[in-house]
Amino acid sequence: MGVIGDNLERVRARIGDAAKCSGRKVDDVDLVAISKTHDAERVREAIAAGQTLFGENKVQEARAKIPELPSNLRWHFVGHLQRNKIRHALPLFELFHGIDDVDLARDLNRVAEEMGMHPRILLEVNVAGEGSKFGFQPNKLREQMESLLALPRLTIEGLMCIPPLAEEAEHSRKFFVDLRELRDALEEEFAMKLPHLSMGMTNDYWIAVEEGATMVRVGTAIFGERAKPKREVYAD
Ligand SMILES: *Cc1c(COP(=O)(O)O)cnc(C)c1O
Repeated sequence: MGVIGDNLERVRARIGDAAKCSGRKVDDVDLVAISKTHDAERVREAIAAGQTLFGENKVQEARAKIPELPSNLRWHFVGHLQRNKIRHALPLFELFHGIDDVDLARDLNRVAEEMGMHPRILLEVNVAGEGSKFGFQPNKLREQMESLLALPRLTIEGLMCIPPLAEEAEHSRKFFVDLRELRDALEEEFAMKLPHLSMGMTNDYWIAVEEGATMVRVGTAIFGERAKPKREVYAD
């Protein structure tokens, strides 16, 4: 098996260990292989190693790449969705991880209705309150939930976060705990199920699994370092 296959095996083993250590089942955690900037050829190497679930963060890139690959794969959108890309994105992705404000959710609902679709979404929470980051403010999400739940086309399946970049994986733990606790509070307040927590990337995915992630989004640890933006394979 090639490098990507070996990497996948290592990441899966680490997810398995973290799940076991925290009394969870490894099957409760989905590994979303983030293939952004990597071409279809590299994705095929991951497919050969048994991976079928992939994530992209640019609609333009996904529109070029996904049709080049087998149709039985599952694709998740993990980026900031631009309003004018919704129409192209809807048919490509089975789950949208980064729905980050009420207006975007409204637009998604409207276009989904026009297209006869029922998108599944996760709400992105700005766990550290960073001004530069997309996402719902944790203390405002409860208020905004009413508006979100009024959008009949959307199924809200959980929460997602991207903690601040840190040297130490352990620094992410408190944000993962916060996201889980916010999820629990919302479930109680709105008497609903929010089964999914999308958290954990190359630098901290095992910590996220220990804290309850049901989806980890891992790119670099599988596909290697990404090229600098100007050398990206696809432009957006
Ligand atoms: C790129 C990206 C990832 C993967 O990041 P790595 O550090 O390469 O694992 C995960 N989530 C989102 C939203 C991303 O944009």
